[in-house]
Amino acid sequence: MSDCIFCKIVAGELPSKKVFENEDILAFHDIQPAAPIHVLIIPKKHIASLADAQAEDWSTIGQMQAAAAQVARELDVEESGYRVITNVGANAGQIVHHIHYHLMGGARLAPLGV
Ligand code: IMP
Repeated sequence: MSDCIFCKIVAGELPSKKVFENEDILAFHDIQPAAPIHVLIIPKKHIASLADAQAEDWSTIGQMQAAAAQVARELDVEESGYRVITNVGANAGQIVHHIHYHLMGGARLAPLGV
């Protein structure tokens, strides 16, 4: 999508601090980290959110989870623990409408809630 910032990062039109890349998936540091380690894992294909995933997207979304586990290991938060979440829609706080997992760790995280 031409107006999607994450598609622009995938295309190399915007910079990012990459930590993982393969044919389908990209992971990079969040520009406004909410934890000492805060990485975004995205598919290269534009999918707006989990709610917009089609049948053919589930293997890619599975790859995002596998990438999250690998990045957590490589950034050394596997032992200490980490969180992987995706926001879906405005009430959940989704701002960028290109599906992404937030991988957060490196500190004791606040409980989830409202
Ligand atoms: P959301 O609220 O779940 O949609 O999360 C979007 C995330 O994207 C936020 O944590 C932002 O800080 C992050 N973000 C927005 N633009 C950029 C960027 O250009 N590079 C890296 N992270 C970004």
